[in-house]
Amino acid sequence: MALKADEVSISQMFEAYIAEYHHRDILQLIAADGDDSHQPVVINAMTLFEANMEIGDYFNDYPNDVLNIFDKVLEKTAKELAKKATVKHLDGLCPRVKNTLHARITGLPVCPELTRDTIPRSRDVGHFLSVTGTVIRASVAKVLAYERDYMCTKCRHVFVLQADFEQFYSFVSPVVCPNPDACNSCKFSCLSGGSEPAACKDYQEIKIQEQVQRLSVGSIPRSMVVVLEDDLVDTCKSGDDVTVYGVMCQRWKPFYNGSRCDVELVLKANNIEVNNQQGAASLLIEDVQKEFEEFWEHYKNDPIAGRNQILLSLCPQVYGMYVIKLAVAMVLAGGVQRIDSSGTKTRGSSPPRPLCG
Ligand code: ZN
Repeated sequence: MALKADEVSISQMFEAYIAEYHHRDILQLIAADGDDSHQPVVINAMTLFEANMEIGDYFNDYPNDVLNIFDKVLEKTAKELAKKATVKHLDGLCPRVKNTLHARITGLPVCPELTRDTIPRSRDVGHFLSVTGTVIRASVAKVLAYERDYMCTKCRHVFVLQADFEQFYSFVSPVVCPNPDACNSCKFSCLSGGSEPAACKDYQEIKIQEQVQRLSVGSIPRSMVVVLEDDLVDTCKSGDDVTVYGVMCQRWKPFYNGSRCDVELVLKANNIEVNNQQGAASLLIEDVQKEFEEFWEHYKNDPIAGRNQILLSLCPQVYGMYVIKLAVAMVLAGGVQRIDSSGTKTRGSSPPRPLCG
């Protein structure tokens, strides 16, 4: 199945789908006064694939290209809807399309090819899938230049060069001048930078790790870098449990003579969902408090036995290690909170002489 020839039909299919399910969302986004220049339109994959089987096949085969087509369709639809809305309200308060909309996919069918609890491997490169894990590191958000204008020094042909994702977003000059008049020169100068700003976008990398409770006993959790762009930047932080939807890609640093080529697997995120259940946790506080009181009531006459019970439930996947678990529990529980003269709260260190069991 070739994609180029069917680009138009994919666009039409997606346009029809958007008209049926998402016109209201888009109108709301147009009407909103937010400063965010990138906004998500969340698309449920199951509904989309059910509405149109063919689009599902294309999506599985060429996820990157199809996602680009989706974004273009969203942009076009937003412009058309804004125009219609302006005609209806002749009061001058016409909504303008100033944002870039992105199709964010969610709700992939639950099957081992598409939804994963473990880090994907190299055979998954090029596939769209979702991975559930815990964020263990989040880099600072950066601004990334992804497009620059270049000019051929011989024929003065100006062209746009896109940074290559697979080479850590570095700019790789073409081998020969892309001028259709075949000038065949290979010397170019960069016009962007200085007075002419390059096209930029927000960029962040996070690292996710497999969740231990979902692995078989004894396996060591693996981790992987996830690339976040535009409105996805800063949507999660270290410690969050997340489901990331995206395309598996590989990337490498420029080659040097004599050094080994390192290829890294990364997930280029299309959508990210934070699964923390903090809302539910706050409702449970009373129950937890009651359970706590009952627990210590039970061990009233032998608090050391109560403490040992807690140590048994600390990291139960790890057998033994009694003293280490005790030390970890001490550090986690901490000592008495101190408030210094400026009002800063400091967590106290654990008591210098813990009770020995
Ligand atoms: Zn040229």
